[in-house]
Amino acid sequence: MPLKNHSEKISKALKLFFPFLITITVYTSLSTVYLRPESVNTILSVKMHQVTDITTKITFEMKIDSFKHGALGLLLGSLTLNPWYTVFTVFTSVLIDLDHTPYFLGIPVPPRVSHSLFFLLLSTIIYQTMFKEGKLTVTWITSFTLHISLDNLRVPILSPFLLSPEPPQKLIPFLITAAYTANLYLGLKKLRKKKS
Ligand SMILES: [Zn+2]
Repeated sequence: MPLKNHSEKISKALKLFFPFLITITVYTSLSTVYLRPESVNTILSVKMHQVTDITTKITFEMKIDSFKHGALGLLLGSLTLNPWYTVFTVFTSVLIDLDHTPYFLGIPVPPRVSHSLFFLLLSTIIYQTMFKEGKLTVTWITSFTLHISLDNLRVPILSPFLLSPEPPQKLIPFLITAAYTANLYLGLKKLRKKKS
């Protein structure tokens, strides 16, 4: 159904993006405390200036990396031919790296602590329960799959319970192809529906 006005659009955007931000914040915090119980005080007493200081630690290479996630996420999302899924894919493709925050705060945990199948599972259940929209859920899974593939699968995939091994890198071409194919399928399905 077309959205009638700006406030409806803003409310839909917040509904779409907020669960992701909350889930990644909670998952990252709990994983950090699980791995480093002594860090609980550091996390609870984080000051705003410490969070803004993190931006000064972002190197040029990391900015290029975020741009790459955003650009290839844009391409991935646009295959669905749905503007909401496209924005959602770009948003999640870039902001999954928010899980680097504890590492940047100096807590000795892996920087990609939420690049994990358990985070994928939890957020998938949350999105499917909240929106009951299979296509949105697929879009989230493909966004995650593309992101970790672009990170060369150098991710603690079972974090926080097991920090190694990393997934085999030979899976990268398969995962990237699967992500783009799934979104292309959603786009073609939409086109076919429009024509009939
Ligand atoms: Zn990443």
